[in-house]
Amino acid sequence: MTVWDASQWDYRGEGNANLVIYYTGCDHELVGKALRLRKIKCTSCSKAPQCQEDARTCVDTLQNVFKPLIGEEYTSNMVQSAVKLSQRKDVNELARFGLLGEDLLNSSVAVEVKPKWGFLPQVEGLKQKACRFCMHSHLRGSPSHYCPLDLYSGDRDRVRTALEALAKCPSNNYRVLVNTPFTDEALMSLMTEILTTDPILCNLVKLQMSLDEWDVERIWPLYEKHKHEVDDLTTDQWIQAVQNFKNGQCRDDPKQRIMEYVLSMTFKDCSVMISIGNSADKQIEWQLQDRWLSTSYSIKVIDLDLKAVHRIGHWYDLDQKIVKHAEESQFAPKCVKNPA
Ligand SMILES: [Zn+2]
Repeated sequence: MTVWDASQWDYRGEGNANLVIYYTGCDHELVGKALRLRKIKCTSCSKAPQCQEDARTCVDTLQNVFKPLIGEEYTSNMVQSAVKLSQRKDVNELARFGLLGEDLLNSSVAVEVKPKWGFLPQVEGLKQKACRFCMHSHLRGSPSHYCPLDLYSGDRDRVRTALEALAKCPSNNYRVLVNTPFTDEALMSLMTEILTTDPILCNLVKLQMSLDEWDVERIWPLYEKHKHEVDDLTTDQWIQAVQNFKNGQCRDDPKQRIMEYVLSMTFKDCSVMISIGNSADKQIEWQLQDRWLSTSYSIKVIDLDLKAVHRIGHWYDLDQKIVKHAEESQFAPKCVKNPA
C-alpha cells in the first residue's frame, strides 16, 4: 500500500457516495491527479476486501460497460489504487482503496454540469408534457427555471437560457471553477458554443432514451417478475448486455430490458465536465461581442457508476409520487419538447 503525505492533498468536492481530493505536491507521477474515495467507513480490516472489490468493479465497469457506450474520447481513465494518507483522519476512515485519475478541475476554467433527464418518455398523460426534472423540482417545493430539455435542445438561445438558469440557481447541477480572469459573459458565450457544437449532449440523451424505451412503469412489473434472474449480476453479464444493446439483440428478453433501464439511470445522473486549459484536446471558434476567439477545451463525462438493480423498486415509487403530486397540484409545465 502506498503511503502518501496528507498535507499534499486538498479537498476537491464530494457527492453522496464519493469524496474527491487532489494532489498539490511535486511528485511527477501525481501532479494533475485527483483521488476519488468511496464514503464507506473502512477502518476495520473486515471492510477492506469489500472496499477493494468496489474500487475494482468501478474501474472494470467504467472501462468495459460505460466507455463502449459513451465513447473513449468522453471518458477519463482511472486506476485502482491502494492508499493510506498519513495523518489524515477524515480520509483514512473512509476507504483504503481509491480511484486515481486526471484532476479535471486542474485547468484555467472548469464547468461541471449535471444535465439530468433530457427526454419525455412514451407514456400517456402528464409525462408527455412535463419533464421529469421539472416535476421532481416541483415535488421538492423548489421549482427551478432550469429545464433539461432546453440544455439538450441544440438551440443556441435555449441552451444559453438553460445555462443562465443553472448559474443563477446551481443547486447541485452546476459548478464553476475559474482560475484565470474570465467574465460571466465570456463564460456563458463559450459554454453555449461548446454545448451546441460538441455532440456530447446529443449522444447522452440518445443513450438515456434508447436504454429506457419502456419507462419505469413497464420496467418495474418486469423486475418484480424476474427479480431472481437479476439479483447478482457479474461485470461480464453487464458487458454482454451492452453488446446486445449495441447490436439490437435480445429486444424481447426481460432481463436485457431491465439491465438497459439500470444503465440508463447512470446516464441520467452523470455529470459533464468541461475544462479549458491544461487537459484540452479540442478546439472551438467562438464569438465574444464582435471578436472571434479560438479556445481549446476538453469534455469528459464523470460519475459513470453502475446503479444497483434493486433500486428499481425505489425508482418506481418515486416516479409515481412525482407524477401523482404534479397531477394533483395541477402542475403547469414550461418544458418544450425537442424533436426526436
Ligand atoms: Zn422541464
